Amino acid sequence: MLAPHGAGSAGRVISQFMPATSATRIIANGRVWSAVAVPAERAGDCAAHPAAIAVQQGRIAALGLARELQQRFPDAELLDVGGRLVTPGLIDCHTHIVHAGNRAAEFERRRAGESYQSIAKSGGGILSTVAATRQASVQQLVDAALPRVDALLADGTTTLEIKSGYGLDLDTELRMLRAARAIADLRALSVVTTYLGAHTLPPEHGGDSDGYVQRLCTEWLPAVAASGLADAFDAYCETIAFTPQQVDRIFAAARQYGLRVKLHADQLSNLHGARLAARHGALSADHLEYTDEDGVSALAQAGTVAVLLPGAFYFLREQQRPPIEALRRAGVPMAVATDCNPGTSPLSSLLAAMNLAAVEFGLTTAECLAGVTRHAARALGLQDSVGTLEPGKWCDVAVWDVAHPAELVNNLGARPLHRRFWRGQPDA
Ligand SMILES: [Zn+2]
Repeated sequence: MLAPHGAGSAGRVISQFMPATSATRIIANGRVWSAVAVPAERAGDCAAHPAAIAVQQGRIAALGLARELQQRFPDAELLDVGGRLVTPGLIDCHTHIVHAGNRAAEFERRRAGESYQSIAKSGGGILSTVAATRQASVQQLVDAALPRVDALLADGTTTLEIKSGYGLDLDTELRMLRAARAIADLRALSVVTTYLGAHTLPPEHGGDSDGYVQRLCTEWLPAVAASGLADAFDAYCETIAFTPQQVDRIFAAARQYGLRVKLHADQLSNLHGARLAARHGALSADHLEYTDEDGVSALAQAGTVAVLLPGAFYFLREQQRPPIEALRRAGVPMAVATDCNPGTSPLSSLLAAMNLAAVEFGLTTAECLAGVTRHAARALGLQDSVGTLEPGKWCDVAVWDVAHPAELVNNLGARPLHRRFWRGQPDA
């Protein structure tokens, strides 16, 4: 059974995986890729250097040569990683991993030539996930999500963002957020929750999207904010979802209730979602296939992260690529995420997402690595606590059986994780 979550409980239940002691460890004999320097990935530099990491109370106390750290921390337990590559633990900053139902049959129908629109009309698509999720308990949602979460962990993930958005009514959205928080109590990882209240219009609103937006702004947003179950708010701005004017209004309300915002922007058309996200100081703007130069400079000025989702691009067989070169030129931080969802990106591997980002979008190895560590941390507002290996940050680390970092991106389907540390604690 799950640890109990009281209705409206604001605090996160203390995880059984919190480091239990103040024991000091030294992760020794690694080749460490830390990439703190800003222009490193642009130069294509993903060199790793011999180093050891001292860990105290789950946080990085120091990096340096092992013998120096042993002098400084003489009682520390030594963990030799055998010369392997050490990177920050991976961060998946955009997932819809909590949901019920199964849309594998739609995959078959699409292969047989049926259109996504026709499947949706017959009750399939996102609304079939909504129907199934509304029927599911917190426990059922957790049970369904855990295999997908475990797949991400097996690829070195230590921080996971989870969106709601398949309930589209208050009760189910809160249940999804509780399920997301419960996952953090059952596995050794950090979970960041996002209330995706404006994902799509549910059928009971009879096409009245303004009426839905009104309820969202005046009833549901304040209730979700008061529950303390959401770390941020997300919306889908698209011709098949909500208009820029509606999102503008919803974002103003979300910010009023103290929630940082992020946006599914410019995925299938250019509605200037990137500019809209930037204007609201969004943590991230995600997808961005149709974003123009104007949107790119708005992101750069606002410091908003561009989250690239090559899994959805691949599964939908899209042709329009995000403006990678313009994002590079403007210095917009680019994160890479799985977008793990049942319909358009049933992907639960950040290593595979990196491969897709490299092959489909042309990212370098170093850009891919920064995209699932440093920039992904920024996309969640966690840049001060995770994403790089620096003293003071959580010791979230992945140790890899590879000779060169490029193998993490290149070797599609390989399982090179040797060991994972979350908050200084190695997996058993
Ligand atoms: Zn998404």
